[in-house]
Amino acid sequence: MFKVTPVCTYCDKEIKGNEVVFVKMRYPERKGMTEIKAYLQNEGKLICEECFNKKSK
Ligand SMILES: [Zn+2]
Repeated sequence: MFKVTPVCTYCDKEIKGNEVVFVKMRYPERKGMTEIKAYLQNEGKLICEECFNKKSK
């Protein structure tokens, strides 16, 4: 899915397979999800479950 090793934006922890992650991103202006993978790589910020829970507290 990702070419580069996905890491958490906040703690730089490597995201492993099957882990729960949250992606913070702007919704694409143009409609259509065909470019969503490329878009995620450019715009998406991955947040691991741990950091997400810390942030929301
Ligand atoms: Zn994290």
